[in-house]
Amino acid sequence: MGDVVESDILRHGAFEYIRIHDYSNYSLELFMAYDSVVIESNNRDFVEKLVRSIRTHNHTDVYLKPIFLLKSSKVEDPLINNLIDGVIFSIDQLELISDYVKQILLRIKDFVFVKSISLEAEIISRTINLMVSREKTELFAYLYLNSGLGYIYPEASIQFSPRDEHNLLSILDTAEQEGLFTSDFNDRIYLCTNCETGILSYREVCPKCNSANSKAEDLVHHFSCAYVGPVSDFKNAIDDELNCPKCNKYLNHIGVDYDKPSLLHTCNKCGHKYQDYHVKAKCITCHHDNDVENLLPRTIKNFYLTKKGRNVAYHGFISTSKDFNEIPGTVRFDVFKTMLEYEIERLKQNDATSNIAYLTISNAGELYSRIGIERQKILISEMIRILRKNLRSSDFIAFYSASTLILSLNDIPTKIANNILNDVVKITTMLLKKNFKNVEIHIETFATPLNIEFSHEIQLQQLIKRFETES
Ligand SMILES: [Zn+2]
Ligand SMILES: [Zn+2]
Ligand SMILES: [Zn+2]
Repeated sequence: MGDVVESDILRHGAFEYIRIHDYSNYSLELFMAYDSVVIESNNRDFVEKLVRSIRTHNHTDVYLKPIFLLKSSKVEDPLINNLIDGVIFSIDQLELISDYVKQILLRIKDFVFVKSISLEAEIISRTINLMVSREKTELFAYLYLNSGLGYIYPEASIQFSPRDEHNLLSILDTAEQEGLFTSDFNDRIYLCTNCETGILSYREVCPKCNSANSKAEDLVHHFSCAYVGPVSDFKNAIDDELNCPKCNKYLNHIGVDYDKPSLLHTCNKCGHKYQDYHVKAKCITCHHDNDVENLLPRTIKNFYLTKKGRNVAYHGFISTSKDFNEIPGTVRFDVFKTMLEYEIERLKQNDATSNIAYLTISNAGELYSRIGIERQKILISEMIRILRKNLRSSDFIAFYSASTLILSLNDIPTKIANNILNDVVKITTMLLKKNFKNVEIHIETFATPLNIEFSHEIQLQQLIKRFETES
C-alpha cells in the first residue's frame, strides 16, 4: 500500500485528475477534491470494486465523478463499461477527454439534489442523475453472470447486492408508471419462489421421489400383438436383433412392425418407472428446489428516459406517488378523484358549498433534506393527524406529491375552509419549531369552491396549476 503521491495528481487544462493504482492508499472522500478519477490497473476485481464503491457512494460529489481507466486494452464487461466514462491508453490522452469531463461537470452543476423519502425514489433519482449527467437516455438490460437475475441494468443494479437485485424490477416499473421512462420488451425470466434470484438449475426428476438420478430408454410398441415395453425387454445377449417378449416375433422395420412412442424413465433411487417426468429448478443462491410451475415470472425490459424523467435530475425527486398510499387519514390520489366526482354530483342535488384546496410545503426539498427521511415521515404523519383533527370525517385528503396535499372540504363556506387551513398551518409550524431547532417550514394553502358546471378533472388541473406556478 502506498499513499497517493504528487505524481498521481494529473493536471490538464482546468482539471485535476487523481490516478489510483491497485496498491494506492486512498479514501473515497479524497475524490471530492478532484475533477475526475483515473484508475490504472489491470486487476479486474479491483477495478470493479472501486467503480462500485464510487457509484454507490452517498455523496453526489463522489458518485457522479467522471471515471476513466488508464490501461492497455478495451473493457468488455458491460457493468464496468457502462459505469466508467472511457478508457485512455496513456496520460497524453487526457487532452482528448477534457472536453467530455467539462460537459459532465457542467451538467451536474445544474442538478438539484434532494433527500428522497423512500428507497424507491432514491434509486430512481440516483439512476437518472447518473444517466443525465452522461446524456444517456437508454437503460438497457445486459445478460450478466454475476447478477442475481442473470440480467443487469448497470446504472441501477449497482445500487443493489446481487441477492437484492429483484427489488429493482418493481422500482423500474414504478418509475415507468410515473412517466419517467418508457420501455420495450427484452426477455422473460423466472425467479426462485424463496429468494427471488434467477440463477436456477433445471432438472428432470422422478415424480415420486424428486430424484434426478434416473436412466431413460426407448419404449417399444409392437404393432402385431400390441405389446408395449422398454427396449431392454426386446433385446437379447447374443445379437442386436429385437424380439417381442410377448409373441416372440422378430421386429424388422421401425414404422412398419413397431414404433418408439416415447421414453421410459427408471428412477435409480426408488425404482419408479415413468414416462412423464417433473421439472424442478434448484436455486443456486438459496438451494430451494422449485416446482417450475411456481417460479415467479418477470419481464426484463429496456427502458428509455422521458422528458419528465430527465427533469428528475434538474428538479430533484423526493418520492413516488406510491410512497404515500399507506398514510392513515388519506386516500390515494385516484380514489380522491373519484370521490371528488361524486361530491360534484351530490352538490348538484343540494344547495351547499364544498371546496377543493391544497396545502403545500413550499420549501420541501430543503426541509426534507435537513431533517432526514425518518423525521420527515414523522412530520408528515403529524401534519395529517392535525389536519384530521380539524376536519370532519366527510372531508378527504390525498397526497399529490411529497410536498403537497389536495383536500376536499365539504359543506362549509370557502372562508371557513380557508380559516381551518390557516389554523392547521399555525399548529404545524409550532410543532415543527418545537421539535426541530433551526428548521423553518413554509406552508401555503388555498381553498376554492367546487363548481358544479365543470368536471372534477378540470378543477383539479386548475388547482394544481395554481400551486405549481406559485412555488
Ligand atoms: Zn432461492
Ligand atoms: Zn424416484
Ligand atoms: Zn409381439
